[in-house]
Amino acid sequence: MGLVIKNGIVLTGEKIISEGAVVIEDDTIVDVGDASVVSKYSSYDKIDAKGCIVMPGMINTHTHAAMSILRGYAEDLPLHEWLQNKIWPIEAKLTPKDIELGATLGAYESLLFGVTTLNSMYFYSEEASEAHAFAKVGIRAVVGHGIFETTKDNGFKLTEDLTKTWHGYDKGRIRVSVDPHAPYTVGPNTFKESVNLANELNEKYYEKGKIIIHSHVAESPQEAESIKKNFNINFDGGVVNYLNSIGVLSPNFIAAHVVHVSEEEVSLLAKNNVKISLNLVSNLKLGMGIAPYLKFRELGVISSLGTDSAASNNSLDVLESAKLLALLYRGLARRADAVKSYEVFRLMTIEGAKALCWEDEIGKLEKGYKADIVVLSLKRINANPLYDPYAHLIFSAKSNDVVHVFVGGKQLIQNGVIVGLSYDKLFEEVNKLKDRIISILSS
Ligand SMILES: [Zn+2]
Repeated sequence: MGLVIKNGIVLTGEKIISEGAVVIEDDTIVDVGDASVVSKYSSYDKIDAKGCIVMPGMINTHTHAAMSILRGYAEDLPLHEWLQNKIWPIEAKLTPKDIELGATLGAYESLLFGVTTLNSMYFYSEEASEAHAFAKVGIRAVVGHGIFETTKDNGFKLTEDLTKTWHGYDKGRIRVSVDPHAPYTVGPNTFKESVNLANELNEKYYEKGKIIIHSHVAESPQEAESIKKNFNINFDGGVVNYLNSIGVLSPNFIAAHVVHVSEEEVSLLAKNNVKISLNLVSNLKLGMGIAPYLKFRELGVISSLGTDSAASNNSLDVLESAKLLALLYRGLARRADAVKSYEVFRLMTIEGAKALCWEDEIGKLEKGYKADIVVLSLKRINANPLYDPYAHLIFSAKSNDVVHVFVGGKQLIQNGVIVGLSYDKLFEEVNKLKDRIISILSS
């Protein structure tokens, strides 16, 4: 038996069907079309999406879901002070169970906001982890273990364990990545070894989907100097130039941030088909600057949207980032047509899927794609009148207009509520952990 979502304004990714239907069987979309499609599936369950937009689930291409437990924990500090004095010391005290709880919180928040896929970097452990959380919650995800120079052997081992246990889990709903944390925390040889590991794992597990490489790149203006100092090396130009010189750039590489790059470096990213995750809210909040998205676009670099963690955002709201992107780059270009609504819609969906090397299965509502579907209500004052669905979505819709969310055909959000979750129990666990964090700080 299958399900038909009917009567909605369907944004397939490539086109708008004003009274459309999307048909799901198991975890896959089997048909998409106009109202005439519905009669072919008379025995299927139906959801009436009249007065709603039906669209592909949004894709968050850079986050640390577990850090949702640190939402609002360290405020008003510059990046390095924020990391070294506040974030890293408390992270060292978090247990695997704490990490799983934080990731659970992040995954639920994402689903409520219509985000069906996360690319998340944190710390893996066999006992409990982000992967365990995503598996239980039902969200689609790419999960990586952050590799650091000081703990690299363990980092490689945990990445292999993570891959063995979770890559391809639940019909491919979970994939893993190899995550050298950043060029300033991972030396050149370890960075190269990380890429080699990704290549080996891709050979071994090729039938379960691509294993990408995920790292923070050129987030702060001091990064090139930090790399030189931390690893006692020298190079010309910026961070991307350096990564190119050690031969680690490739189409499997997703670089988060990429704020401080020269035009020549953007050409290197384009030449190597490196993917970008823009993290505009986090970069602005931590005072890091603004990534040159219009240059990425001009030179043909695939860009997508990330939120970074709730510790630097403070939410995992991709739709909010989408509006910010449109406003920011229009403002910088001083042209209202510099970034069109449809282009921003693509960044949240189709381009996000490309950035994760997952575009053959997610990011569109088309026959054969995974049934990751968001139904967003237009029965709202802010949605009336409606002339242009893309402009509505980017500029006037709110993430809590999302009413239904499906991941792999399974309904996880119904009428704006998480299916089967006791909110009180979750809040109780989260606040217990918050109290423990506060007591650790004061001890
Ligand atoms: Zn990050």
